[in-house]
Amino acid sequence: MVGAGLSGAVIGRVLAEAGHQITVVDTRDHIGGNCHTARDAETGVMVHTYGPHIFHTDDAEVWGYVNDFATFLPFKNRVKTTAKGQVFSLPVNLHTINQFYNKTMRPEEARAFIANQAADIPDPQTFEEQALAFVGPDLYDAFFKGYTQKQWGCSPTELPAAILKRLPLRFNYDDNYFFHAFQGMPEEGYTVMIERILDHPGITVELNRAFDPAEAPDWDHVFWSGPLDGFFGYNLGRLGYRTLDFETFRAEGDYQGCAVMNYGDVDVPYTRITEHKHFSPWESHENSILYKESARECGPDDIPYYPIRLVDEKAMLADYVAAAEAVDNVTFVGRLGTYRYLDMDVTIRESLDCAADWLKAQADGTPAPTFSKAPL
Ligand code: UDP
Repeated sequence: MVGAGLSGAVIGRVLAEAGHQITVVDTRDHIGGNCHTARDAETGVMVHTYGPHIFHTDDAEVWGYVNDFATFLPFKNRVKTTAKGQVFSLPVNLHTINQFYNKTMRPEEARAFIANQAADIPDPQTFEEQALAFVGPDLYDAFFKGYTQKQWGCSPTELPAAILKRLPLRFNYDDNYFFHAFQGMPEEGYTVMIERILDHPGITVELNRAFDPAEAPDWDHVFWSGPLDGFFGYNLGRLGYRTLDFETFRAEGDYQGCAVMNYGDVDVPYTRITEHKHFSPWESHENSILYKESARECGPDDIPYYPIRLVDEKAMLADYVAAAEAVDNVTFVGRLGTYRYLDMDVTIRESLDCAADWLKAQADGTPAPTFSKAPL
């Protein structure tokens, strides 16, 4: 397993339980990939080192899986956004709409009101079209246009509609950011959960260890959760990513009153501020640690976070997919290995399925899967 994040841990565990000997390597000095959490020595707060991760899923098996390895405590993600000099509730819900338009509409009135604002675009292709069809120009301008410009570094007219489809629009006062049936936070953080997944006699973990793809033929099989293009030495070009910068700062008491505050205005340089202690509402801490987050183009020495997946990247991706298919004993997995924007629950689902497919292929004597899930 190259990479000790969720994909490597979950696949490794399934294969170890099936009797295989697994070595998990990671270049970092910790496990958990970008889900890594660690307590801040100064405040005692559990910090989401690589930015906010909230576990939510509709997949009962995945929910059962994570609960086997960690105690999940109730957590509802209630995001706020500061835009045009006010604080609003997200995702866009009846409170947001009434506050924004200074009205006291009931659900059906608001539905009709927004329908009247929304553009009639039958099959929205771009993020902007999707937003205009979804909420109309005013709410789009306040909450989505500037934020998306900052997050993705390009105009929402160049982005696919799918990015916005992640977010709900509600004509009631439900301000839970996610639709899913199951939602929570691991009591002791994600790293402890992943440590327990990796805690099996068949699994050895080697940290601070770079894996050279040239070593792949020396192993029975390699599951690569690093960047797909990185496996090939970027010889067909670099797949585009957005990277994140986190400016850490501290405060006394409660700085912003919620875990995540977005900033919708384009002239505010950051996208959001995360106050980590609010991710553990069952704990109490006098002081606070926060991240001011901003996004930019990912350079060769930066951490890749969000795959961009625009037309140019998809063309290059097709070339890498062909290259991957020509490699015998490697399966490319996870967010970086398949170059897709994946939530944690989807990562676990695909990892469980990938491990089962791999075991079946072994048993049947058929070729191992090239990808945990086809990237295109
Ligand atoms: N988005 C936005 N305004 C917001 C929050 C999100 O325009 O206040 C857009 C933005 O383009 C973002 C996408 O919706 O990339 C998905 O948002 P989500 O909160 O799922 O992003 P994540 O937390 O995964 O970065």
